Amino acid sequence: MERLLNYGYIKSEKVKKAILKVPREEFIPPENKQYAYIDQPLPIGKGQTISAPHMVAIICEKLALKKGMQVLEIGTGFGYNAAVVSEIIGPKGHVYTIERIEKLKNIAEQNLKRTGYSDNVTIIYGDGTKGYEEKSPYDRVYATASAPKIPEPLKKQLKIGGRLLTPIGLDTSVQELLCLSRVGEDDYKSYNLGGVVFVPMIGEHGWPE
Ligand code: SAM
Repeated sequence: MERLLNYGYIKSEKVKKAILKVPREEFIPPENKQYAYIDQPLPIGKGQTISAPHMVAIICEKLALKKGMQVLEIGTGFGYNAAVVSEIIGPKGHVYTIERIEKLKNIAEQNLKRTGYSDNVTIIYGDGTKGYEEKSPYDRVYATASAPKIPEPLKKQLKIGGRLLTPIGLDTSVQELLCLSRVGEDDYKSYNLGGVVFVPMIGEHGWPE
């Protein structure tokens, strides 16, 4: 926590409180639990990772989350980032999170239930590059996997005035975190938050399998 504060990754009290409250060790496989509070990504199986705490802090800060927001996440993993977002947006908010690997989706479901977040986080098994139109439009959309360009359905499922955060890469290793605001029906403004490393977003509007 000190590192996240000292390096300026955590800027607000609400993000600090949420990261302190969500037990990260509950979202990590047994063999790696001792590393839960080290600031690095950790393997969760199937070639995927739980994001490093500083990356979760950056995402939560840049999303400028508020109580009651409706949020879409692409890439549930073991459910940690979704739990932190849920903690910030509170019981009137809701996180819809999409995971394409069934085994991870099932473990995330157990993790979120055990830690008390399952009422406010819904996991969808499928291709997140298509978004989740059923509950759109969203106040916030974010992805924890990197696509070659922003998937068009995610842009369309964002509210006007909403914000989208996603890593984008020309290949799977060189990536930048993009922040996109929807300012009108077909009007978006974007800015680049700098270099990041995420696993690939695989799907119809992402990388091929
Ligand atoms: N949000 C996670 C956390 O809390 O640490 C991070 C998960 S990991 C960095 C990214 C996840 O995105 C992986 O579990 C991967 O299977 C998933 N993923 C990749 N492409 C996807 C897609 N098209 N739809 C849904 N999930 C996808």
